[in-house]
Parts: sequence; structure tokens; C-alpha cells
Amino acid sequence: MDLKALYREVILDHYKAPRNTTPLVQPDRQADCRNPSCGDKIKLQLKFDNDRVSEVAMLGNGCAISQASASMMTEALKGKTFAEIDRVVEEFRAMIVNGSTEFDRQVLGDLVILEGVAKLHARVKCAMCGWSALDAALHGDGSDVNLDEDREMPASSRG
Ligand code: ZN
Repeated sequence: MDLKALYREVILDHYKAPRNTTPLVQPDRQADCRNPSCGDKIKLQLKFDNDRVSEVAMLGNGCAISQASASMMTEALKGKTFAEIDRVVEEFRAMIVNGSTEFDRQVLGDLVILEGVAKLHARVKCAMCGWSALDAALHGDGSDVNLDEDREMPASSRG
């Protein structure tokens, strides 16, 4: 099995059996993201113990890329501080949205499996849906994100 086939397997596995899908009771932070152009919806919930993520949940439905990306994201968040999460988000954005090859593989860990999405412009928003919910949960007022109105995305990923 080549690497691409292996990556596809991992993505499909997360899609079929997404991790951390039990809703949290009284989450400390949460936000929703919608990506209407594809029909993806993700709610992200977080609980913190001191300044580290103790529990995380992602609830939603949509295409394989959106669900797998969010599922893999939840795995990456556990035990991390706000600052550490920001670092992962920054590197993930560089990889997926900017299509950079300079991202930090050590910070991203297993998330590098999603690198190929950067070349599939129509799927970039799908891959970012869970991450946009995360960003809104941490830095926004908790209000929902609609990726069709997201001006941060590069023009090439629209439509
Ligand atoms: Zn999608």
C-alpha cells in the first residue's frame, strides 16, 4: 500500500467512525461552523482543566473531508493549552489554506495526512470547517461561523 492509499484509509476511517462525538455536559467553549456550499456542519465543544483541554467533542455531518478533518483535529487538541492550540491552527492553515510546504510537521503530527487537500481547492473549506468552529470557540464570542461569508479564505478556494 502506498502512502496516498494509506492516507485515504485513515481519512475514511475517521469519516466512518469519527472520534470524540459524545456531546459534552456544560462545555466551557463551543461554536458551530457551516459550510453551505458543501452542506458540512460541525459543532465543536471544549472543556478545560486549568488551561488545558480536558474534553473535546465534535458533532456534525457532512462530507468525508470535513468530518475526518474535524475528527483528527479533536484527537490533536487533548491536553493542549490555548497557545499550543493556536500553534497547531496556524500550521494547519499554512498547510491547507496557503498550500505551504513549510509547515511544521512536528506540530501537526498525524494531521499531515490531510496535506493533499490543499490541492483540492473545492475541499479546502470542508477541511477548515471544524477548525473554523475551533477558532470561533476560542477567540470569537461563540457565535456561528458561515464559511460562505468567510473573507479570510483565498479566492482560489471559493466555489
Ligand atoms: Zn464538504
